[in-house]
This record gives sequence, structure tokens and C-alpha cells, in this order.
Amino acid sequence: ARPIIAIVGRPNVGKSTIFNRVIGDRMAIVEDKPGITRDRIYGTAEWNGTPFSIIDTGGIEIDEEDFILKSIRVQAELAIEESDVIIFMVDAKAGLTPADQEVAEILFRSRKPVVVAVNKVDNIQRQEDIYEFYSLGFGTPMGISGSHGLGIGDLLDTAVELL
Ligand code: GDP
Ligand code: MG
Repeated sequence: ARPIIAIVGRPNVGKSTIFNRVIGDRMAIVEDKPGITRDRIYGTAEWNGTPFSIIDTGGIEIDEEDFILKSIRVQAELAIEESDVIIFMVDAKAGLTPADQEVAEILFRSRKPVVVAVNKVDNIQRQEDIYEFYSLGFGTPMGISGSHGLGIGDLLDTAVELL
């Protein structure tokens, strides 16, 4: 089977934007579980000659606002269970949030390799916004921009190397 990379992070950081860029024209596969909505979640791609599957965990949504943190935990736990490498996505514009720290704690307990991708680093001025994310404890955060298509090759180089 193909190795699996999961994209994990709180809502709105840009997980689906990156997922769609990585899978390109390929179809994503949707799977349903009772009580959870999964939308466009599994895709396949290839980088540097390595085929892999990629999961957009953000497709899992629980409606009520009170359940957002629960939903984030469910996503992180599913990702840990199913994946070989985790891309932990955060948002340079929003900065570090308690929800990010919540995700970090869950990921930290796993033995899976984690790469921190700081999305919305849309220009060179924003590059300094990545530094606060060192405190998540997963090494050097990588600045990327899903909407501008910046840094995604370097991120995939790193993620695929960890597979
Ligand atoms: P998700 O909830 O984590 O899947 O996030 P989405 O991919 O749906 O993106 C959330 C919002 O952030 C959308 O309005 C995107 O257009 C926006 N967004 C995604 N990537 C970038 C980026 O690199 N820069 C900026 N400025 N906005 C982005
Ligand atoms: Mg999404």
C-alpha cells in the first residue's frame, strides 16, 4: 500500500487549499463514518518518484460550535492512527492559538514524524511570522502559501523524505 501523509490542523488554516494543490486533477475519495462527515478526504499523488496517499482531515466536521475542539481531537487522532507522516498546518496570519497547542499535544504523544507547515506566508515580509511556531516543539517550521503556491515543493521534499 502507498504510504500516507495526513494534513492536520484547526479549521481555516488552509488544509484543503494545500490538499487540492497536491492532488491536482486527481479525484479525491470520500469515506463516511456514522456521526462524522468526511468530504473529499483521501487523495493520491506522487513526489520525487514516490507515490503516496494524502488525507485532508479537515473534511471531518461536527456541526455544533461546542464540538470544534472535539472535532480537532478526532481529526488528530485519526491522522495519527492512519498516517506515516503528519503535516501539522498552522496560520501565519492568525499566529499561534490555543487550538494549535491542543493539536500539538495530541501529535506529540504519537511516534509519528511531524512537519509544521506555516501557511499564509504569502510574501517574504511574512517569513518572520514562522518563528513563534518553533515553540510547538516539532523542529523548524516551514513557511508556505497555499494560495500563492509558495514553499509547497520544499514541504513535500521534507514530508516524503520522512515516509
Ligand atoms: P481549512 O479549513 O484548513 O481546510 O482551510 P481552507 O483551505 O478552506 O482555507 C481557509 C481560508 O484560508 C480560505 O479563505 C482560503 O482561501 C484561505 N487561504 C488558504 N491558503 C492561504 C494562503 O496561503 N494565504 C492566504 N492569505 N489565505 C489562504
Ligand atoms: Mg478544509
